[in-house]
Amino acid sequence: MIERGDTLLAARGLTDAQDRLVTADEPLAELQLACGGDLPGVLAVPELLVLVRQARSMDLRIAREFAAHDGDDRITGFARVHPRGGEDGEGCELLVENWQRQPNALAGASEFAEQLDAIDRASAEASGRLDAAQRVQLVSAAAPDARELEAAISREPGRTWTDYVTLQDVAHRQPLHWRLLDGSHCTLPGSQRHWRVRLLPLGSVSTAPAGFEWLLVPEEPLSGIHSTQDSEDDAAAGHSRLIGSALTPVLRQPIARIIANAETIRSRLAGPLREEYTEYAGTIAAAGQHLSGMLDDLADLEVVETPGFSTAREKVDLADAARRAAGILGVRAQARGITLDLPEEDEGCQARAEFRRVLQILLNLIGNAIAYSPDNSRVTVRTHESRNGRVAISVADEGPGISEEQAARIFDKFERLGRDNDGGSGLGLYISQRLARAMDGELTVTSRESVDDGCGALFRLDLPTFPAR
Ligand code: ADP
Repeated sequence: MIERGDTLLAARGLTDAQDRLVTADEPLAELQLACGGDLPGVLAVPELLVLVRQARSMDLRIAREFAAHDGDDRITGFARVHPRGGEDGEGCELLVENWQRQPNALAGASEFAEQLDAIDRASAEASGRLDAAQRVQLVSAAAPDARELEAAISREPGRTWTDYVTLQDVAHRQPLHWRLLDGSHCTLPGSQRHWRVRLLPLGSVSTAPAGFEWLLVPEEPLSGIHSTQDSEDDAAAGHSRLIGSALTPVLRQPIARIIANAETIRSRLAGPLREEYTEYAGTIAAAGQHLSGMLDDLADLEVVETPGFSTAREKVDLADAARRAAGILGVRAQARGITLDLPEEDEGCQARAEFRRVLQILLNLIGNAIAYSPDNSRVTVRTHESRNGRVAISVADEGPGISEEQAARIFDKFERLGRDNDGGSGLGLYISQRLARAMDGELTVTSRESVDDGCGALFRLDLPTFPAR
């Protein structure tokens, strides 16, 4: 432990220009080894590697909450990453404070909600930290159109975050319970884009959180902003975003209230309660979370169906995206004894695509492979080198596979191939295929009949290579 000023730092580490962890204090060193890394060696904690890479490549200071896993234990902390230019190399200084270990995080954790949080963390283009009263303590902007917000906060620090942005769908007077603000939409000064706000509580959710991780996730890529004329054309053609702009805001708050109240009851904060009633409350909270996830799927559906929907064209390392998706789903796979067999570290396979959309597709494919395969089986993810200017990534499992007849309709909207009651929406593959096509790619499935060894399902995402040929 190191003391610096009045802040207690739990661990400090240094990385080099290749993102190798060169030195690290305990418990960071211990986590690096537990995640299969060496010291010195490439940073093996995927959640920290993302931050370090981002900070180094963009020469940007990042301060963000992270969560990682050591076996069944969940490790959370607040990471500050500072690029170190100049003589001592081009790596970063990594400081982790508020290090916490929760044993057996599997029990009771809402995997679905965690997965959404992880996607939002990976795609947030501005983030920071709020205190318990939702006042901004720190902010860092990765996107150029969030810099004005950052500047406004440093000019007049210490105010509630809602003072710095314009909320779209919240008419109530502030301050509101954080649950009612989590997921709300806003605009930022100096940005033409629409943003979604995430407030992720630090510390215990059931009692008052100690503060919040504050994420601002853009609703569209910087390069894909529609001109006003486009939006008017869309509206004239009847393509207004009914779900995202009308239904979601109206439904989100009551659903958030249901979840908040059910959680209060479950944790017995409202008073003593018989065991079975706390279980009912848990079921209500889980159903509320499912509904809220459905709402996100529907809003996504609407976005991909908007005429002229476009995605960013950036360099995406497919193997890296696969490892991140696997990092997010690792706990779920582990719980069922499923092995995730991933592309090798050095297998660089670059696509021209939008990173968060590729991550979303891979989370859907690998999530399905885990959900629809037997316990103790293997899910194999492989990248495929460029052919005719294309690269690809495939996800194969050892489940029942897809018949030719099923393959013909598996990408249809709401198609679940006869399944019900296990929490799916039947929208994942439809949305994924639309996303793939928006990136000039394709998502396909190989049927059982056309593979010799009669193995499980095999999905393949093809994308243009980077740079385009
Ligand atoms: P959801 O999983 O929410 O139902 P998806 O669109 O992702 O929606 O998948 C549609 C259906 O395709 C699933 O309900 C399931 O029946 C089938 N499916 C998807 N992936 C697989 C797989 N890897 N193995 C077997 N069936 C699958």
